[in-house]
Amino acid sequence: MKLRFPMAAPQTATPPPSSASAPRAQLIHIEVDRRLGHEWDEWNGRPLPGGGDFSAAPGVFFRFAALTIATATGVAALLLYLIGPRLSTLSALVPRILWLVLALFAALEWLYLSVLAASFYSGRNLLPERVLERGPYLQLMNYTSLVARGFGKRDWVEHAAIDIYNTLAERRGRRVGKGELLVLIPRCLSKQALDGVLEIAGRYEVPVFVATRGQLARRVIRERRPRAVVAVACERDMMTGLRDVAGKLPVLGLTMQLPNGPCRDASIDLGQMERWVQGLVAGAPPREHTKR
Ligand code: SF4
Repeated sequence: MKLRFPMAAPQTATPPPSSASAPRAQLIHIEVDRRLGHEWDEWNGRPLPGGGDFSAAPGVFFRFAALTIATATGVAALLLYLIGPRLSTLSALVPRILWLVLALFAALEWLYLSVLAASFYSGRNLLPERVLERGPYLQLMNYTSLVARGFGKRDWVEHAAIDIYNTLAERRGRRVGKGELLVLIPRCLSKQALDGVLEIAGRYEVPVFVATRGQLARRVIRERRPRAVVAVACERDMMTGLRDVAGKLPVLGLTMQLPNGPCRDASIDLGQMERWVQGLVAGAPPREHTKR
């Protein structure tokens, strides 16, 4: 961001200002070379690690998800240990019941994580989508992201989480009509990426919307009522988008690379986008995939 300050007007003692020459507020021109999404508010202006490519193996997410469950259980157990003596003054049964509920809850969480990992690695979704990728998984992704932030691994863990989500969602083999699919893109795509998206969307006759903010994206979805969405965003924006939308509507989320820092000149895997659009649009003839 460049700030440009105009020269200050010289100060004079006389004569008193007439209405025509009354002092006017100085205008400070602010030239922005990018507008950051609020997810990137704390960006320090330095190049992003890995040239803005946060690709990570799925195992990274599973490790952090296990840490998240262990941390949540540990915090709840500590709390119960501390307030247990007070609760037992009400009835000796109260702390016992709470310990039992906590143990049951922890067992369910570990079981869920195990089934999730088994589904992902076995190549077969073991639970319905409403219980798997479009169910509690969306919450698990977000809590895991919170824990990953404490270790400075947020973007990589989010990338892995989104990859797992997409793999599970793609396996459902969903098909929709051309008019029922919506492609949502952010404002930060490079010209090359934007041209590529428009070309793919034109070829499969799918509408494309530029969603400048999450709120707008949700409005477009409300108004257009698509039956499926292919959304493009950085990992940070995609996490909130999936959390808000994927529970209600099938979404595939394509993450980007940010070689010039956040919110500008983002590139995407156009081949992946074409495979998804083609796979979702029922009856679309197979095409040669666009190169990135
Ligand atoms: S999607 Fe683009 S514009 Fe939106 S927060 Fe991410 S990098 Fe910035």
